[in-house]
Amino acid sequence: MYMTIVFKVSDLLKEKMVAYYQDKRKEKTPPYALFQAMDADTMITLYESGKAMFQGKCADMDAKMWAEMERNLTGKRVNLSEAYDRNEKIKDTRRTLYGLTTIGSDEVGTGDFFGPIVVTACYVPKEQVPYLDQLGVRDSKTITDKKIIEIAPTLMKEVSHVTFILRNEEYNRYQSMGYNMNKIKAILHNKVLVAMKKKHPSYDRIVVDQFVFPRKYFEHISQSREKVKDIMFLTKAESVCASVAAASCISRYIFLKEMKSLGDHLGFPLLKGAGEDVDRLAAKIVTVYGEEKLPEIAKMNFKNADKYFDFL
Ligand code: MN
Repeated sequence: MYMTIVFKVSDLLKEKMVAYYQDKRKEKTPPYALFQAMDADTMITLYESGKAMFQGKCADMDAKMWAEMERNLTGKRVNLSEAYDRNEKIKDTRRTLYGLTTIGSDEVGTGDFFGPIVVTACYVPKEQVPYLDQLGVRDSKTITDKKIIEIAPTLMKEVSHVTFILRNEEYNRYQSMGYNMNKIKAILHNKVLVAMKKKHPSYDRIVVDQFVFPRKYFEHISQSREKVKDIMFLTKAESVCASVAAASCISRYIFLKEMKSLGDHLGFPLLKGAGEDVDRLAAKIVTVYGEEKLPEIAKMNFKNADKYFDFL
């Protein structure tokens, strides 16, 4: 796995590093760096600020060596497990995407026994990014349902979006055709992205919250008539890309509304997730409406579709 490790070094260690990598320096030095060097498979960049960056498959080995040296020289301990994390990379990506016009997509409902799958693509011109940031869409994963219900209607007014709702009967039909969840997701993402690209043919990047390896994604959509191919796949994309964040909020809002209307129809408020409370509720619904009701409101390949028998 490719790693980026960053930590701050003392002036003393800085000197040592400059000397050590003297012969391995690359010709070009990035802005604000003292040097950039390749040592075996690891790229080392030392910045004027004292920030040392190690990148590559074995970056941890090199980083560890210098962390130990630091401790011997100055007694300063470097917390490598902290330096490991992907924060630097995420910050870089966020900085880049902040200044770009993006189309982004995200889905909701794939972990819930009850209710549809909702996929949304949003188009966010770069001028709109600060506004969305202010609204707080960045942390869509940590936003409560209450807040989603508050901000989503505004979002839907202000942000160009395309949403597709895959209802349970259709989902179950896909499943019976042998489509797994990732294939269904890929097909739906492609569908909203195709539509969005037609609406807004000019943009800087298309970003998808990664749920499967890119090669697999394209395998999954190989039978789709039209395909969007210029995709940047990012994990946790909603935290770095405004259009993905907006898509995530809108999808969640529509999912909540769908759940509400299904629940109103049944006379039982539906529950999210796939836990035992969901099994119990499924048993209740089957008792009242019979088991033929479930495929209309639930994803029948989930374990819940067997487990509810225990609660009948
Ligand atoms: Mn997602």
